[in-house]
Amino acid sequence: MRVPTPVFFSPGSPHRIVELDVAPPAAGEVRVRMAASGVCHSCLYAMDGEHAAVPAPIVLGDEGAGVVESVGAGVTGLAAGDHVVISWAPGCGRCRICRQGAPALCGDQPPLGRMADGTSRFRHGDTEVWHYGPATNAPYTVVDARAAVPVDPAVPLDLAALIGCAVATGVGAVRTTARVRLGESMAVIGCGGVGVAALHAGAISGAYPIVAVDVVPAKFAALRAMGATHCVDATAPDALAQILDITGGGVDHAFVTSSAAAAFPMAVASLARRGTCVLIAGYPDGAALSIDPGHLLNGERRIVAAKYGSSNPPVDFPDLVDLYLAGRLDLAAMVSGRWRPDQVDEAYEALRAGVATRGLIVFD
Ligand SMILES: [Zn+2]
Ligand SMILES: [Zn+2]
Repeated sequence: MRVPTPVFFSPGSPHRIVELDVAPPAAGEVRVRMAASGVCHSCLYAMDGEHAAVPAPIVLGDEGAGVVESVGAGVTGLAAGDHVVISWAPGCGRCRICRQGAPALCGDQPPLGRMADGTSRFRHGDTEVWHYGPATNAPYTVVDARAAVPVDPAVPLDLAALIGCAVATGVGAVRTTARVRLGESMAVIGCGGVGVAALHAGAISGAYPIVAVDVVPAKFAALRAMGATHCVDATAPDALAQILDITGGGVDHAFVTSSAAAAFPMAVASLARRGTCVLIAGYPDGAALSIDPGHLLNGERRIVAAKYGSSNPPVDFPDLVDLYLAGRLDLAAMVSGRWRPDQVDEAYEALRAGVATRGLIVFD
């Protein structure tokens, strides 16, 4: 099939809508008609050329939901018409870490841009067009069948899209990585889509206080509505002192969703004794962070990482949908803007400006 699709050609130049040939799904793959695609920071890194491994031209988008259009040979458990949330971490499905339920940590994944057989399903004229993971910014995309997680069709697909990256990551970091318990304190440093999901998960879990730390005070009312009990302007000279004061000397859990230079040091410095810093943010290639070992040792403070919120998508995505359907997980409140496919650059610029929590590209 041939479909007008926003394609990214090179850093610094806007997307172009091109007529994209989308091949049928090969064995073990499905082709999905996308309903919505979330506007995620990792794609912004790609657009800014901060990851050398990103090939071009490429269809971006790592968060989305849609309806299965067709299935390739050998696919079981999925059929045309199924509503699916897309995972960006199908893993190989065979190795030890995949079988343990942590496919985002799989070491046997194809290079970024390619399907498992090393090729692409997208073509523009004679030019091969690559897949940024699941390439959810395409109205029709092809993914490994393990990346298409069937969910209850009662969930609106535009809202379900958020589960595929921001919600899986932010909620998963709180629920699965950190296992935040009733009455424990937490801070979220950087309150975009992932940070808002983490705040909300903290509220659902009964954490207190829940401190939102961000550089855009205009968002604070929205962050309180999502569960923050206190908000701190990260640019204030006494931001760290405010966090320590609010939490009576330090937080039990500090979640770092921002790669800004001040974020990680602030999170580690804010930790209570036996507190844990959970590193969620993606950093540009070659980034380095420094720590004070004495600060860790003398308080038994810990630093852990949460990739994709330690998610196991086939289990966690349906759980998150159930929480939404039960009225516990407020996906609608996480959406800060909706854009058409031809407005994709505007959507990413809104993300860059820091005012957006989560934008959605919505298809017809
Ligand atoms: Zn993402
Ligand atoms: Zn694997």
